[in-house]
Amino acid sequence: MDTIWTRGVSPTEYPALVGDTQTDVLVIGGGMAGILIARELSSRGVLCAVVEAGRIGMGVTSGTTAVVSAQHSTPYSRLLDDLGRDRAKAYLDANLEAVEEIARTAQGVDCDFERRPSVIYSTRDKEKLIREAETVKSLGFPAYFSRDFPANTGAVGAVIFPDMAQFHPLKYLYGMASGLTIYENSVVRRVKDMTAYTDGGSVRAKTIVIASHFPFLDRRGLYFMKMHQTRESVVAVEGGPEIGYTAVEDEEKGFFLRGYGKLLLVGCGNHLPGEENDDFARIGLFLEKFAPGSRQVCRWVNQDCVTLDGVPYIGRYSPALPHIFSLKAKKHRTNPVRCFFLRQSSSFPMKYGSCFCHQHQSWFTSKPQ
Ligand SMILES: Cc1cc2nc3c(=O)[nH]c(=O)nc-3n(C[C@H](O)[C@H](O)[C@H](O)COP(=O)(O)OP(=O)(O)OC[C@H]3O[C@@H](n4cnc5c(N)ncnc54)[C@H](O)[C@@H]3O)c2cc1C
Repeated sequence: MDTIWTRGVSPTEYPALVGDTQTDVLVIGGGMAGILIARELSSRGVLCAVVEAGRIGMGVTSGTTAVVSAQHSTPYSRLLDDLGRDRAKAYLDANLEAVEEIARTAQGVDCDFERRPSVIYSTRDKEKLIREAETVKSLGFPAYFSRDFPANTGAVGAVIFPDMAQFHPLKYLYGMASGLTIYENSVVRRVKDMTAYTDGGSVRAKTIVIASHFPFLDRRGLYFMKMHQTRESVVAVEGGPEIGYTAVEDEEKGFFLRGYGKLLLVGCGNHLPGEENDDFARIGLFLEKFAPGSRQVCRWVNQDCVTLDGVPYIGRYSPALPHIFSLKAKKHRTNPVRCFFLRQSSSFPMKYGSCFCHQHQSWFTSKPQ
């Protein structure tokens, strides 16, 4: 994928897997999820290896907008209503922990990490946002409602989370990958008896984490029946306003925006692969108002997973595979909750790392089948 992130870095050159080897934990997939779980485990002294089909970070992670926030759409009022205060708070705390963990680990990595307030805005439903801001505040985080913000978007109001962040996803990922055992250009073709087979060799492990974005072991878990992909388009322009926040419109096909140096990134979408769409035309119209006179420097289309029940598929892959774990968050289309993995991918591996250490996962709600 040609994006502003891939243009700014040199590709990695880890060796391919050749021959047979063993490790304690094998992570399949070297995107943000896989690299962060491997980093986390490694920092706990666990022997682990990552096997990546192509080059690390070149999957969905290379086309993200890389906003690091505990705010994704307006989930907290819904979680409070559906799951109660304790779980809503546990979920918020896990997300806030994720932001701080990324902030902590980004120190010392040249990854353009910057603190930014994150904003969810609406062009029509002020009341919903007021309630969300009050809910989050009651759960202990100083979110607040702001009227008519952001300017030039038609917003009637916004929920603002202070002190969130943004970064360069590949620079950060490469920093996190440093020192790990990684095999690139090694597609895992099958997994049998706790051994993963590639064309060049095999890795035997005591535990396997599937972080391949879309779980690829079909005979167990039946994930292909429980998730699908949605696509979104992003345009990077120069000559637009330099915004000091990141923002997402609280709509099914709403806009999202962030700055990066002198660039402004604007995206929208949320449609099925192959479905006709007018994303780029919509972004063009948006930019006429928001960034008149700006010039496009890059554009791309990317996709992410959507789960059936709106909860992350994280945990044991299937009762029949007790030592294989799946690590894939949700992004729900029809439910107001849209969880972005990158935002969670710090907290999920952290929590998931704890899972290996037998700690309690208070906010896990999904059950493997
Ligand atoms: C347009 C867009 C904008 C987004 N913006 C944000 C944002 O601002 N903030 C945010 O938090 N999230 C955002 N997201 C979501 C976030 O970027 C993704 O959820 C996250 O990057 C996914 O990481 P991943 O590691 O699961 O997947 P990937 O990055 O796709 O990594 C999976 C890896 O597994 C490898 N793989 C697959 N099969 C095999 C196999 N058989 N053997 C070996 N390797 C295999 C692939 O090659 C790939 O490298 C956005 C998503 C989109 C689409």
